[in-house]
Amino acid sequence: MAGATNELSAWLDAAVDPFVACDAEERVCILNSAAERLLGWKREELRGQPVSRLFPQRLQHYAGKSLLRYLLSRRESLGGRAIRVLARRRDGVEVLVELTVGASGQGADERIVINFRRLHEVIDTVHEPVEQSLHPAEARPPAESGTNGDSLYRVVVEHAPLGIFHFDTTPVITACNERFMRIIGTPKRILVGLNLLTIRDEHIMYCVRETLAGHNAHYEGEYRSVTSGKLTPVYIRFAPIRDGAGRVEGGVGIVEDITERRRTERERDESLAQLTTLFRTAPIGLGFLDNELRYVRVNDVLAAINGSSPEAHAGRRPREVLGPTGMAVEKALRRVLQSGEPLEKREATSQELGMPGPPRYLAGSFYPVRAPDGRILGIGVMIQDITDRKLADEERGRLYREAQDAIRVRDDFLSIASHELKTPLTPLSLRLATLERKLERGEHVDPATLRHARQHLLRITGLINDLLDASRIEAGRLALHPETTRLDSLVEHVLQAMEVHRGDHSIHFERPQQPVLVRADPYRLEQVIANLVENAFKYSPDGGTIRVELRQRGELAMLSVADPGIGIPPDQQKLLFDRYFRARNVSSRSYGGLGLGLYISRDIVERHGGRIWVESEVGRGSTFHVALPLLQGAATQPPVEQPDHHVH
Ligand code: ADP
Repeated sequence: MAGATNELSAWLDAAVDPFVACDAEERVCILNSAAERLLGWKREELRGQPVSRLFPQRLQHYAGKSLLRYLLSRRESLGGRAIRVLARRRDGVEVLVELTVGASGQGADERIVINFRRLHEVIDTVHEPVEQSLHPAEARPPAESGTNGDSLYRVVVEHAPLGIFHFDTTPVITACNERFMRIIGTPKRILVGLNLLTIRDEHIMYCVRETLAGHNAHYEGEYRSVTSGKLTPVYIRFAPIRDGAGRVEGGVGIVEDITERRRTERERDESLAQLTTLFRTAPIGLGFLDNELRYVRVNDVLAAINGSSPEAHAGRRPREVLGPTGMAVEKALRRVLQSGEPLEKREATSQELGMPGPPRYLAGSFYPVRAPDGRILGIGVMIQDITDRKLADEERGRLYREAQDAIRVRDDFLSIASHELKTPLTPLSLRLATLERKLERGEHVDPATLRHARQHLLRITGLINDLLDASRIEAGRLALHPETTRLDSLVEHVLQAMEVHRGDHSIHFERPQQPVLVRADPYRLEQVIANLVENAFKYSPDGGTIRVELRQRGELAMLSVADPGIGIPPDQQKLLFDRYFRARNVSSRSYGGLGLGLYISRDIVERHGGRIWVESEVGRGSTFHVALPLLQGAATQPPVEQPDHHVH
């Protein structure tokens, strides 16, 4: 007998379809392995239990009969055809099955056999085929509390925007919703009954194992469809399902198709990368503050303008980063928050803002940052260090003024120069006419007339030479021919030559004790001395004594020419040595001149390694000083004879 039972159970276990047999009391006595798998019961557990446990409560009675008795009573009219019914798994999940029912024996020996066929349909259906196909007219029995929970679960599962699948410990997928099917791209009839092992994905397997070990798990990756090979990026959360005793009897997977999320994330990452690059590399200071006026992020430029690091800004307020300056900044920011209007291109200097460090010019704009719905999320700040631009503007202004001045000077110069050149021409021409007339008539010619004519000619030559020298200096082409020169003799020589021009003036020359030797171009130095003495005559209209002094001081030869003349206003003294400059107390009418003599003199002196300057008081006179380096070792050398005079 035992042998026959074993044989029978082996035979039953080998059968593909689930199979359950029960006694006359409708208590389960046999079930095969396929039934164990389908229904989630171990046979020891189910044996002796009422078979009604295998069906949802609402399906357990029809027309006053139990479901099985009802189906048995309908056997003839069904003619062996299977009927669809929802079976209830141990975990409460309902599985659509086809079943046929048969019975043998009588009374206590009666056996009712139920043959199940899994339809690969799952809990997501809202139809109740038994009620509809068998008794469409019959009213549904009122829902009981357990049923309520079930249908609620079904509704949730069906409408969840997520794929949901259940699996048992084998681990075979026992149920799934439509959404899961769509995400995976595989028909439900293939999915339900699919062993997860066949997916051959290590990560998914790991999650399944974890779940069956009672832990939550999650998976993110590309799921490859078993049927189409299509790859779908998915995020799956796994959770274990436990029976009443707390034992894990399967798991649920909640699947999210993250194609869209990935795309949005990629797009977001890309635009974020673009913005970050702009943010980092922008040559201006950029920052964002939240509604509480705390820095959210700032770029390196803004951090540098604010004098600290980007990290030192995060989460802090302007007053915490900038000290008292921050108060003013916060005031401006609050205005933007309150009005919702930007504040643009506000300029201030770092001193005005009380910022430490070198003075800078800053320009700032503050914009409300709005969410798509118009809410203000915070403030965007743009700060630009415009010091360079400001300085360039100022420099441009200065250059413009200088250019204007230069134009004015040039115009003045042209009118002065033409006047200066013309002045000696008239008397020269008159003198020449007189000479011509006298010579024609054979009259005596006065040598003074000729001398005067020559003086006018020399004046014109002098002016022209000054103009030529000035332009040579400008072009850097004024040549020097230095040689060992006795400066004392040179001064003497110049003073002698100028004797004729001294008019009412007297000249007092204070000679040095010993010869003063310099290495210089004597012709050019003569020009300097002559110019100083000429000026002394010219700007001392009332005569008086011109004091010329030459002495040695240390390594220098010091020459000074002092006059008791009109003097020079203090603010003009530095400018005398500029090209074309003439002090304002000399009107071109009364004191002729081009304003070139001192310009040329300074160039000559400086190119000899010397210095020229003036001391003067208006109305009391001026003293021009020239310091030249002595010939090396000359201070200790014995006096030498004056060398030949070099004339250019
Ligand atoms: P110029 O005498 O031809 O104007 P200079 O270059 O020699 O040119 O002199 C420049 C200016 O310096 C003069 O126009 C005059 O205003 C001032 N200056 C030069 N020497 C004297 C001086 N001894 N006393 C007063 N002013 C002087």
